[in-house]
Formats: sequence, C-alpha cells, structure tokens
Amino acid sequence: MSKVAIIGAGVSGLSMANYLEKNNIDYHLYERRTQNDLKGHGFILPKEGIEHLSSIIDINDLYKKGSFLKKYIHYNQAGEIMSEKDLDDVFVVSRSALIEILANEIPSDKISYQTTIGLKGFENGKANIEIDENNVIQADIVVASDGSRSRIRRKIFQDETMRAVLENEVVNIIENEELASQIESNFLKFHHEKGGLTFGVLKLSPKKILWYCQFDITKYFINEDYTADCIRQFMIENFGNWNELITSIIEGSSYENAHIWRVYELEKLNPFYHENVVFIGDSAHPLIPFTSQGVTSALKDSFTLTQLLKEGNDLQETFRRYEEERRPEIDIHINNGRILLNQFLLPLSEQPKNTLPISYK
Ligand SMILES: Cc1cc2nc3c(=O)[nH]c(=O)nc-3n(C[C@H](O)[C@H](O)[C@H](O)COP(=O)(O)OP(=O)(O)OC[C@H]3O[C@@H](n4cnc5c(N)ncnc54)[C@H](O)[C@@H]3O)c2cc1C
Repeated sequence: MSKVAIIGAGVSGLSMANYLEKNNIDYHLYERRTQNDLKGHGFILPKEGIEHLSSIIDINDLYKKGSFLKKYIHYNQAGEIMSEKDLDDVFVVSRSALIEILANEIPSDKISYQTTIGLKGFENGKANIEIDENNVIQADIVVASDGSRSRIRRKIFQDETMRAVLENEVVNIIENEELASQIESNFLKFHHEKGGLTFGVLKLSPKKILWYCQFDITKYFINEDYTADCIRQFMIENFGNWNELITSIIEGSSYENAHIWRVYELEKLNPFYHENVVFIGDSAHPLIPFTSQGVTSALKDSFTLTQLLKEGNDLQETFRRYEEERRPEIDIHINNGRILLNQFLLPLSEQPKNTLPISYK
C-alpha cells in the first residue's frame, strides 16, 4: 500500500505527485476522469507559477504550448482603449496542455483513472477511503486534491456553506489561424459600460485563441441545458454588436468545447487538514477566477507540503505548519478576489483604471 494517497489529478494533485516522485516518497494518485478527458479552459499564470513549474517539468515543454503576454489592454465595448499596462512574465496556456505535461512525469502504475474515491469514515486517526464497493483502504496520508466542490471536504466539514458567486463565465478555446493572426500576444479585455459584463481574448499560439466572457448572474441568464447552440445564442445576444473583433470571434467560433463555469466559494474556509487528511488547491480554498491565482496557489501548496513532509516531523505538526505557511497568502487572494468582483459589477465609469485581473500578494 502507498504511503500517500492523492485524490484528484487536476493541477494540485498532479503537481503533488510530481514533487513526491522527485523526492522518492511513495504515493498513488486516483482520478475519476478518463486519461483522455482533458476538457477545461485555460490558465493565466503569473511569474511565480512559472517558477514553481520549472522545478518539476521541463519548462520548454510548457513554453511550446502557450505564450507570454506582453500587455494588458482594457477596452470599452466599442473597442476604444481605456488603459494599458505592460505585463511582466505572465503566461497563458490551456488546461489540457498543462495537465498533459504534468501527467507525463507520473509512472503509469502510480495513477488510476476512472476511479472515484469516497470517504468511509475514520479509524484510529486514519481515513478509510473507498476505491470501490469491495475495496476500502487506509494510507498514512490522504492528500485531498479533488477540487472546489470536494466531496472529501464536504464529508468531513458537514456544516460548511458554499455560495454561488455573482459572476459566471463562458470559456472557449478555438483553432482559427485567420482570427489568431489578427491578435498580438496581448491580454485584451472589453468591458460593458454598465458593468457586470466583460469579454477577454488571449492568444495561445499562432493558431489558437482562448476567449471568455464574465457575466453578472443577476442580470444575464444562460439556458441551463449547456448545449453548444444555447451558448452560441447567449454570446450573440449579449456581445453580437460590441465591435468588429468580438463579432468576428463569436461568429467564427465552434461551440462544441465551450464551457459554462458556475463559480462557487466557501463562505468561510475550513481548516486545511483533519486527522491524516490534508487539503490542497481548490479543495482547501476555492479561489474565484478574477484572482488568476488558482494554479499558482495549488503549486505552492504542493511544494510547501512536500518540503514539510521531507522534514519527517509528527504529522499533525507538519499539517499545522503547512496551514500556517499557506493560509495568510490565501486570505489575501480571497480578499483581492472579492474586491475585483465588486469592481467588475460597477459601471465602467466607476471602475478604477489600470487594475490588472490578477491578485498579487
Ligand atoms: C472559469 C475559471 C477560470 C479560471 N481561470 C484561472 C486562471 O486564469 N488562472 C489560474 O491560476 N486559475 C484559474 N482558475 C482556477 C484553477 O482552475 C484552479 O484553481 C486550479 O486548476 C487548481 O485546481 P485543483 O487541481 O485544485 O482542482 P481541479 O482542477 O478541480 O481538479 C480536481 C480533480 O479531482 C478529480 N476528482 C474530483 N472528485 C474526485 C473523487 N471523488 N475521486 C477522484 N477524483 C476526483 C476531478 O475529476 C479533477 O480532475 C479558474 C477557475 C475557473 C472556474
């Protein structure tokens, strides 16, 4: 049996596995998706995220899959520039590319796909984790990296409250060389004058564009059936007359892989550990998308936890120090995220100029 069981192979679980692999600590990773289900959106990674990734992957593999953004340009809906700012080492990459690179480093006998883990309870301070109906195991340490709606966390902290964030997103990655050639490697973001509605465009590669829209859920409604047609209709209705670039992007996009992200946050964070279970990434601290810090925070969690595990101290002391190190920075990002959300909801004339859609500590 492995010393460490990691539940969930998103960025946090995979980066944890990479750090443990590099440090010869035995582990096994369980993921409920199939290996080829790499659906998802894209990530904006500030400098610190790239630095952490450099210690576990060949960073040139990552550089081939995304691009550095030179400037952040803030427009109104008509396409007039409101402000612009140079960006310092901010990188954009699709989630699928990053997940694939991180998974490449994990030996195939250390990861089980299509395996959904449940928590059966605790015995002698250790979690009983259910692999399937006939298979309940214990590990020395359980790392819960099962995302913002973590079922492990909800089973342990049953009185937690998750609430819907007032902003939701549609995210799409399209392959269209002609459209991509019209855009430089900048981060373009268009804001509706009344507030609560934005459209962002980022160039991933000479052929690929990532675009997303953010909308105030009290003002804009999208049909719950999530089909490609209903997403296209929503985009055309709300952005169809903004400006030429946006019109050409939304009309030239395929919607087969477009996603609607319903965003949730915890009213109050739980402790980052319980008995021998420790939480990392979104399962410990869901961050709203405005911060652009979800991936970097996940990488820092797994790095910090591995460093502390290597010291070989008592487990509760290790977890206590992990939370002590990580929590203050997370509190700052949560607070910054709420400030950025409130600004997003304001009319454009009342929004501060030159605010980057990234939270810095
Ligand atoms: C719309 C949107 C935009 C975002 N944009 C950015 C951005 O620009 N920059 C940025 O840094 N961050 C961004 N984030 C945040 C970022 O996606 C996450 O913070 C980051 O990916 C860390 O995720 P994670 O690995 O902790 O969780 P996840 O990515 O949610 O991974 C959890 C994994 O666990 C698996 N799983 C769940 N339950 C079980 C179970 N019971 N058993 C086994 N496996 C299970 C899931 O299948 C999944 O693969 C964004 C988030 C959203 C919603």
